[in-house]
Amino acid sequence: MTHTAEIISVGTELLLGNIANTDAQDISQMLSEIGINVYYHTVVGDNPERLKAAVAVAKGRADILITTGGLGPTCDDLTKQTLAESFGKKLIFDEQEAQEIRDYFATRLHSHQMTDNNYRQAYLPEGCVPFHNDCGTAPGCAFEAEGVHVLMLPGPPRECVPMFRSCAMPYLRRLSDLEIKSHNIHIFGLGESFVEDKLRDTMLKLENPTLAPYAKSGEVRLRVTARARTDEEAERMMAPVIAEVREKIGDCVYGIDTDTLENTVLQLLKKDGVTLAAAESCTGGLVSKRMTDLPGASEVYLGGAVTYAPSSKTAILGVPADLLEHDGVVSSSVAEAMAQGARARFESDLGIGITGIAGPASDESGTPVGTVFVSLATHRRTYTRKLHLGHDRDRVRISAANHALDMVRRFLTGLPVEEWEQ
Ligand code: ATP
Ligand code: MG
Repeated sequence: MTHTAEIISVGTELLLGNIANTDAQDISQMLSEIGINVYYHTVVGDNPERLKAAVAVAKGRADILITTGGLGPTCDDLTKQTLAESFGKKLIFDEQEAQEIRDYFATRLHSHQMTDNNYRQAYLPEGCVPFHNDCGTAPGCAFEAEGVHVLMLPGPPRECVPMFRSCAMPYLRRLSDLEIKSHNIHIFGLGESFVEDKLRDTMLKLENPTLAPYAKSGEVRLRVTARARTDEEAERMMAPVIAEVREKIGDCVYGIDTDTLENTVLQLLKKDGVTLAAAESCTGGLVSKRMTDLPGASEVYLGGAVTYAPSSKTAILGVPADLLEHDGVVSSSVAEAMAQGARARFESDLGIGITGIAGPASDESGTPVGTVFVSLATHRRTYTRKLHLGHDRDRVRISAANHALDMVRRFLTGLPVEEWEQ
């Protein structure tokens, strides 16, 4: 049987817009990893009547109900009481949980006095499976009633997310005797609508495995998920779908389960023993940041220069002043000179050069916002892409860095470097 889940996030601060509902976002992603469909996200304030009403609706349309928040010791934390009442369960004092809360105070919160209301957290619905909280005091729990599995997790993300992974996911996996496996297909260089257009029929037709897109800033990702009795069987079912995606999308598929574009680039650089450096203007060091986020990058990523003012492009990278004057700071020749300058300065095998207008305003030359030139200098020649990346400053910067990394990837895998589709 396939399960459907509803997440009910409890907290007035969510309704007021004081905080974003990242718990629901993270839980949805983890549920999709184990093949459980989420059909609704509900947000309700710290109000028992409205929470009860939300639960009544949810249990009519989902068989897995997950709440976040309201498990703490204070009087506005009413989730457990309300859910127990909604399903006709008593709350029972759990001595083991009480001891764990005492231990947490003794070992982790020396400076805090444990007050009586902390013991409220040791009351759990009768017959439930407690979820131990490694990062706080409020335990979570799960129980089954009226054909619905109810799971309750604390609100703070640093407690909710680890607890979901270590307790809720194993609990939910046991509900099915089928294994659920999935693979993420990473695509760069094609728009989401183009990918969807190419694969729409396949996506609609497939039931097991399924194929679905999910968004990632500046990239497209697809997830293939199969349910089967064994891992091997699931892999066998997914292989033809992955092959079909590769056939239809071609070399814009940059990896399967590879995490990020920069990680793919790092692995390729390491494999070939090739070194890289970057000279960045409008991206302000984003390529360097993303490369150096990866442990072990120092083997192949030699460094970067943020040369924002034209004079720094000349002083640090040796970009000729008359080139800047004549062609303009945002031009293919300057991007190329920057890439070559990075390569020479850092004595790397490959050099990236990025110059563009991230906006919101254009410069005095009148070059449209979002125009970015990205170059890759190699020992043989320098490649350049002229890009139009829209008007959103953050997106322009992220996309420009993505393009630079994609050019390195394509160069190292022997693909045409300057080609991409918007
Ligand atoms: P506590 O023991 O800290 O009171 P709790 O389980 O009672 O935990 P809440 O009181 O509902 O949780 O929320 C505590 C804090 O956790 C909130 O102030 C907020 O910062 C964060 N939080 C709560 N719910 C969410 C959510 N859905 N997404 C992101 N953060 C959340
Ligand atoms: Mg609370």
